Amino acid sequence: MRNKLETLIRLHNIDHELLQLEKSKGDLPQRVESLRNEFKALEAELQQQQDKIKELEAKKARQAGEAEVLKEQLKKYRNQLYQVKNNKEYDAITIQIEESETKRDELEYNNLELEEQIQELETGVQSLHEKIHSQTEELEQQQKELEVVLSKSQDREEKLLKQRQDIQKELPRPLYSSYERIRIGRGGAALAFLDRGACSECSSRIPPQRGVEIRQMDKLILCETCGRILVYDPERENSHVELAK
Ligand SMILES: [Zn+2]
Repeated sequence: MRNKLETLIRLHNIDHELLQLEKSKGDLPQRVESLRNEFKALEAELQQQQDKIKELEAKKARQAGEAEVLKEQLKKYRNQLYQVKNNKEYDAITIQIEESETKRDELEYNNLELEEQIQELETGVQSLHEKIHSQTEELEQQQKELEVVLSKSQDREEKLLKQRQDIQKELPRPLYSSYERIRIGRGGAALAFLDRGACSECSSRIPPQRGVEIRQMDKLILCETCGRILVYDPERENSHVELAK
């Protein structure tokens, strides 16, 4: 059993370092990812606003065309007024002139409103462009930072994972499964060390008789409080002695 427990300690040390490597990356990957999403959303918004502008421009052109046609018609009607033969004809043309004028005014008023909307949208588009520009710079900056951190840890990570595979082969499958179950359930540490009469992970006291058994390392002993596999590492104890000197 001692051999197996010592192998577990080696595995634990590797997992510990892997965890530290993962932590050293910090939240950079998530930050890059969320920046990317924000960036995509901004681009979609920009596209939408640009489409809207196109749509309004087309409508404006169509209405301006209609207003032109009305203006031409009004000219004709006014000329006709000079050639009327009776009051009835005069009244009929006057009504048509009034209708055309109302329609023309409406179109012109609508186009002024459209123009205002377009200008507002263009201001929005401008600030979106600026936002996207600064976002791109920030994204590139963070990506560079991430790449530096990642390349540093990647080599080490690969080496550790290779070692981990070899160690895993040395362990009986059920023991390795228990180790993994505890490791995943306990935030990355499946082992706890006997540390001056207590569990190094949860600090609960361990009765002296149990302490003796743990030191012997010939049984699988779990911490009654945190459920981790308790082991003994003389080097750890020595380092405390060193510190106390
Ligand atoms: Zn414990």
